[in-house]
Amino acid sequence: MFGPPGTWLPPGIGHASGVPETDDQARPSDARTDVAVVGAGNAALCAALAAAEAGAQVTVLEVAPEAETGGNSAFTAGAMRVAYDDAADLGRLVDLDAPELRDADFGSYPVAAFLADLERVSDGRCDPDLVRTVAEGSMPTMEWMRSHGVGFEANTERQSAVVDGRRRFWGGLAVRVVGEGSALVIDLRAAAEGAGAAVHHSRPVTGLVCRNGAVEGVETPTGTLAAGAVVLACGGFEADPDWRAAELGPTWRSAKVRGTRFNDGAGLRMALAAGAARAGDWAGCHAVAWDASAPDVGDLAVRHEFSKNSFQLGITVNRDGVRFLDEGADFRNYTYATYGRAVLSQPGSVAWQLFDGRVQHLLHDEYSRPSPDRVYADSLDELIARLDGAGGIDGRRLRRTVDEFNAAVRTDVPFDPTVLDGRRAEGVTPPRSNWANPLDQPPFAAHAVTCGITFTFGGLAVDTSARVLGTGGAPLPGLFAAGELVGGLFWGNYPGGSGLTAGAVLGRIAGTAAAEAAGRTRSGR
Ligand SMILES: Cc1cc2nc3c(=O)[nH]c(=O)nc-3n(C[C@H](O)[C@H](O)[C@H](O)COP(=O)(O)OP(=O)(O)OC[C@H]3O[C@@H](n4cnc5c(N)ncnc54)[C@H](O)[C@@H]3O)c2cc1C
Repeated sequence: MFGPPGTWLPPGIGHASGVPETDDQARPSDARTDVAVVGAGNAALCAALAAAEAGAQVTVLEVAPEAETGGNSAFTAGAMRVAYDDAADLGRLVDLDAPELRDADFGSYPVAAFLADLERVSDGRCDPDLVRTVAEGSMPTMEWMRSHGVGFEANTERQSAVVDGRRRFWGGLAVRVVGEGSALVIDLRAAAEGAGAAVHHSRPVTGLVCRNGAVEGVETPTGTLAAGAVVLACGGFEADPDWRAAELGPTWRSAKVRGTRFNDGAGLRMALAAGAARAGDWAGCHAVAWDASAPDVGDLAVRHEFSKNSFQLGITVNRDGVRFLDEGADFRNYTYATYGRAVLSQPGSVAWQLFDGRVQHLLHDEYSRPSPDRVYADSLDELIARLDGAGGIDGRRLRRTVDEFNAAVRTDVPFDPTVLDGRRAEGVTPPRSNWANPLDQPPFAAHAVTCGITFTFGGLAVDTSARVLGTGGAPLPGLFAAGELVGGLFWGNYPGGSGLTAGAVLGRIAGTAAAEAAGRTRSGR
């Protein structure tokens, strides 16, 4: 039997990313578990919980130290995309009796709408079987999470507004985790441990143990853990600048990493070395407009709050003083994941989001965070002068951009943030399709943004049972995967809130299937 937590990895375990040493004892020679889960983010913990519930002995190995646990999942705002037919259906997850929700209009977001969103934003290139599994599994999986202590609430602050006296939700993102990502990983870990899983930190997995084409355990810098089955849920390669440059292009070397520094693609590397097939959009990633003064990798004290995702309420300009994207092309959830790339390709990989006093109260809370790259002014002239001086923007050109934009706004069309309101700026280039307002009411604000990469889209080929497929198309016995390192779910773009849902759905499937596979191995031993 596998020993208690922390008994088999000797002192001195290091990792390229700087994991502190541990003071554990030497590994017993018979170290073995039923299911080894690699990573301790959302997908891994769902897998561990499901496998433990299915009766397996589960060992979770996480490279990060305890203080940095939870992977990217801990950084999230906890928004989770879920299919529901109506408000009553949503009541399976969320308490709808709160006074501010009693008369709210949640609309509906059936499985077909979830699927249509995944297909639309990926131009039909996503894996149809995988996305169907995720969309259909979203509600039952989140109910299962809720039954294990994860709280859900209405995503009121970010996904609703009061119009004509009634609160309306939009964009398929009506639900979020109570306490956001940090609570999510705490609650899931408590549930997994409560079901019997052992969670180990500062435990990097460096390779897979393979015999006769089957995966039979994991390698660590200090020894082998034999396992009946292995679930890889250890993220993409977004935190490895060299791999980013190789797959996404050289400019991506300078992107800031929004989340954990530990997602360096180790799981992908070891699976590919074991014969797994690549799937999905290896040249693509999720990347957003991110505070230009944010650190190079995520800061758990700030988490997602360097995001600058209220761009649809103002205009975004580059150093030349010109707009370069349609800020209102669609609801923010369907465009924001591509706007990091758009900013990265601008001169100096920087841009400024400009807002006036009319919309200040509609901006996400993050905009009030102090930042050295934020400029306020009482007049447009003053704002432009300050950007021209300190920000290095071409002020004359910026003045022309704003004047042209202001003159082009269809002020005869009512502004409504809860629908694609068609309030466009007519004739400007690039176009501006919705929610246009002239910038003419003080105070004025400019926020400098750069590109923040969230996660990479390319990953491993898996089937709907979360089995990792080999280059010949057949499953690699004993190997399962879930979360960011699964390929084929997202391609070119991403509907907000899908990452946690996909990780939970496939994580649960992977854990259950791994427990079953381990059971077969055990009975055959
Ligand atoms: C700032 C931010 C905000 C976000 N907001 C949202 C949101 O609101 N809603 C949403 O759906 N998505 C959001 N996302 C995306 C979301 O975080 C991911 O889709 C999801 O969390 C991925 O979960 P995961 O379990 O696959 O990976 P992770 O949570 O990243 O977990 C992977 C784990 O594997 C560990 N690991 C890596 N290598 C090894 C190794 N060799 N050995 C052992 N362990 C290893 C890592 O340390 C990490 O803990 C956000 C992401 C960020 C960064």
